[in-house]
Amino acid sequence: GAKARGSGTWCFFSEGMTQAARERLALEARLRRALDLGHLCLYYQPQLELATGRLIGAEALLRWLDPDEGLISPARFIPVAESSSLIGPLGLWVLQEACRQGQQWRSAGLPALTIAVNVSLHQLLLTDLAGATQQVLAQTGYPAQQLELEITESALAEHPEEGLQVLNRLRELGVHLAIDDFGTGYSSLAHLKRFPLDLLKIDQSFIRDIPHSADDMAISSSVIALGHAMGLKVLAEGVENREQLEFLRQKGCDFFQGYFCSRPLPAQDFTRLLEKVGKGARLIETA
Ligand code: C2E
Ligand code: MG
Ligand code: MG
Ligand code: MG
Repeated sequence: GAKARGSGTWCFFSEGMTQAARERLALEARLRRALDLGHLCLYYQPQLELATGRLIGAEALLRWLDPDEGLISPARFIPVAESSSLIGPLGLWVLQEACRQGQQWRSAGLPALTIAVNVSLHQLLLTDLAGATQQVLAQTGYPAQQLELEITESALAEHPEEGLQVLNRLRELGVHLAIDDFGTGYSSLAHLKRFPLDLLKIDQSFIRDIPHSADDMAISSSVIALGHAMGLKVLAEGVENREQLEFLRQKGCDFFQGYFCSRPLPAQDFTRLLEKVGKGARLIETA
């Protein structure tokens, strides 16, 4: 502890913070290099229509394949990118790669789907997201109607006015808009109803304990009703078992994604899945 090392508490914490800051800088530098070297890739997780089991989309999820450390979670490096200027080029790379891949699937004649791309707070506010999106769509030829951008509820709750302007411009391009992690962000319903949204994604923390948590069941069914009352579609994240699926189906939830159907897959594996779906394969049994 601080005392044993003969220094005061202040010094102890100061050393700790310097260490944390140093680690952050090192990670940022490594991430910058990973982006240059092509060590990043996208995984894709299927999104299904609940009533029919039909594949309707895929969420693109960023992965960092470090030669030494292996797979590094976005939960660890997105916050680092967010707090540096890296989020600009990183977010742009994700958008480009998702649209490039989507266009490749289209030209291969595979079943049509929407690709959902995560957008972070700083990407929304500090970069020209609408301009970049328009450019990427033009460059890749991927249709705006088959691109969905996911913005976390907390991002919009923090900056509703600035967020609204960007979302309106994106909507004009024809891009679909989803609110991610809904229920965790304390957004005001007054703001929410002004956003040009298509989809609410119920955060997985409210799905996890269904059917054992009466509270989570009440919250999830309320969010489904709220979304529908606002004219939105609702998707449940993190569906892992049949009980959760049946509950959500009963409550009229439109879509779901989760390990029950599939984990996020490398692009190659997702291509094989699309080929099977094209031949009539079903991803889940429906009643
Ligand atoms: P998210 O957008 O809410 O993505 C859902 C997360 O839940 C993903 O974690 C996914 O792998 C995981 N998941 C999916 N189904 C299940 C399930 O049935 N059970 C459980 N326990 N988890 C499930 P992942 O891929 O680690 O991503 C974590 C977060 O990192 C994402 O949360 C998103 O906020 C962020 N992220 C990922 N890719 C990007 C990106 O390209 N850009 C930005 N800005 N953020 C990203
Ligand atoms: Mg997401
Ligand atoms: Mg989410
Ligand atoms: Mg999340």
